[in-house]
Amino acid sequence: MIVTRFAPSPTGYIHIGNVRSAIYPYLLARQNNGKMILRIEDTDRARYVEGATELIEDTLEWLGLKWDEGPIVGGPHVPYFQSERKEIYHAYARKLIESGRAYADPTPPEKIDEYRKKCSQEKVPFLYRNFRPDNPPEWQPGIPLRFKTEPKSYSWHDEVMGDMHTGPEVLDDIILIKKDGYPTYNFAHIVDDAEMGVTHVMRGVEYLSSTPNYLALYEALGLTRPKLVSLPHILAPQGNKKLGKRDGAKSVTEYRDDGVLAEAMLNYLACLGWNDGTEQEIYTMDELIKNFSLDRIQSSGARYDETKLLWMNGQWIRRIFDEQGAKVLYARTQNFWPEVAKDASDDYRLKVLSIIYDRLKTLSDLREMTAYFFADPEIDLDLITNNKFLKKISEAELESLLKIVISKLSSIAEWDAGSLQSALNDLLQETGKKPAELFSLIRIAISFAPFSPALNLTMEVLGREKTLARLNAVARAI
Ligand code: GLU
Repeated sequence: MIVTRFAPSPTGYIHIGNVRSAIYPYLLARQNNGKMILRIEDTDRARYVEGATELIEDTLEWLGLKWDEGPIVGGPHVPYFQSERKEIYHAYARKLIESGRAYADPTPPEKIDEYRKKCSQEKVPFLYRNFRPDNPPEWQPGIPLRFKTEPKSYSWHDEVMGDMHTGPEVLDDIILIKKDGYPTYNFAHIVDDAEMGVTHVMRGVEYLSSTPNYLALYEALGLTRPKLVSLPHILAPQGNKKLGKRDGAKSVTEYRDDGVLAEAMLNYLACLGWNDGTEQEIYTMDELIKNFSLDRIQSSGARYDETKLLWMNGQWIRRIFDEQGAKVLYARTQNFWPEVAKDASDDYRLKVLSIIYDRLKTLSDLREMTAYFFADPEIDLDLITNNKFLKKISEAELESLLKIVISKLSSIAEWDAGSLQSALNDLLQETGKKPAELFSLIRIAISFAPFSPALNLTMEVLGREKTLARLNAVARAI
């Protein structure tokens, strides 16, 4: 059975650059009826952030990445918090001590710094194994424990990076247990992956250079190596460096709060550095599960492109509306309407959504784009007189045009999109104006917004009374 894991450290929010390390393990596990484990790697107590675990859980839940074992759901390997698994690591550490492959190292940090400086002066690489203490004491809490490595070459296959080979110079006596008794990441993940039966270790490529040390540990502990899958970095939009919080990488949940749909986020991130060899761009979760494959993960970094994410979000907004219905999309817009819409009926808001959804990039665009449906906009004549299609027309003519429009619209029997469209067509004939001129004038007069959906639809939703009142108010003001 395929067992994957997502093993985040609770040091803050999950940002867009690292959530993909949860998506791919999930897809692989689901595709193979396997399991995905969520394991919280919280042994670096100095970097621990209160509430970060909940943020991680919240992010995964929002994206629909249900873990089969881990916090909340439990499982055969509880606890899933590394900070609660100390005895397990200590037991493994003792095995290494017994086999002569680990030693207590009381060397103070200042001394280690000296060794490091000496090496840099002599221009030789600093390897701790050249400075092992002569008579290490017995290991006890408070003394760091180090691996006693046996330098040699390693060859292995990384499912994404291909065949790898390293020489003995990269192997060192890494710390297994720190002074505070907690294991290092380097040791804890080896033990846990083995204990939890992880078959595929999928994680960021930053761990690739340490892999020989991990291979040495698997060997010394007599453990079978899992398959190793190094995921290339997501790069900052500007260039060739890893996208990080410092480049403004937002938290995943911030995008949710800004009106990005989970489907779009999942789709975008899954396809950032992976494709199935076709031109397809929009994937549902089920399609991702079906089509995912390790051998189509790119080995080079993929650049994060927020414009593309927002484009995809627009596609998803349309897709949900078109395939699942207006009400399904509407139910997801609750937090995104402008303040002035708060007293409007669901029915009215649904109508507004139905004519504007195909222009939304995020649900929060509703806030900017729909206010005039709910409250009369402030009249700003400059928007009319400075408009590129209207500025050549005199104010007197604008006023008389508005009057013609008002009289025509007042006369139509049924206030529906069809009748409104024929009235608009008649008006073009009657006034001899170009569509860009006449329609800009009407659009601005009823919305004072830079954008509105098709004019006949906008007027239909606004209703006869409001439309005519707004046109009249502008005609008076000009
Ligand atoms: N705790 C590590 C991190 O957050 C996880 C690396 C791994 O998946 O093994 O970077």
